[in-house]
Amino acid sequence: MREIFTDTDSARVGLFQSLLEEAGISTFLKNQYSNNMIASGGRMSDVVLCVINDHDYDAALEIIKEAATGGEEQTEEWICSKCGESVPGSFDLCWSCQEPIKADLK
Ligand SMILES: [Zn+2]
Repeated sequence: MREIFTDTDSARVGLFQSLLEEAGISTFLKNQYSNNMIASGGRMSDVVLCVINDHDYDAALEIIKEAATGGEEQTEEWICSKCGESVPGSFDLCWSCQEPIKADLK
C-alpha cells in the first residue's frame, strides 16, 4: 500500500478515490490523525488516499494529475457566430441553432 494524495478536504479526496476506482485501481482511505485528536483538538484532519497495490501508483498519479489540472480547457465556452449563444467547449455544434464551431475558434 502506498500513499498517493493527502488533503484536508475529504470531498476532494473522495472524488479522486472514485476516479481511481472507476479506472479499476483499488484504493484505501485513512485519516492521518486519530479520532481522539480530532475530537479533542478540533483540528482539521488530513484524509489520506492510498493505492492498495504499489504497481498502480504511477497510473493513479496520472489520473489524479489529470483531474487536478485538466478540465479547464473543456469548460471554456465559445460564442456561436450565428446566434450569439455561448456554447460549452465540449460541444462541436451550437446547442441552440446547430451551427458548427468555427475552425479558428477551436
Ligand atoms: Zn447558434
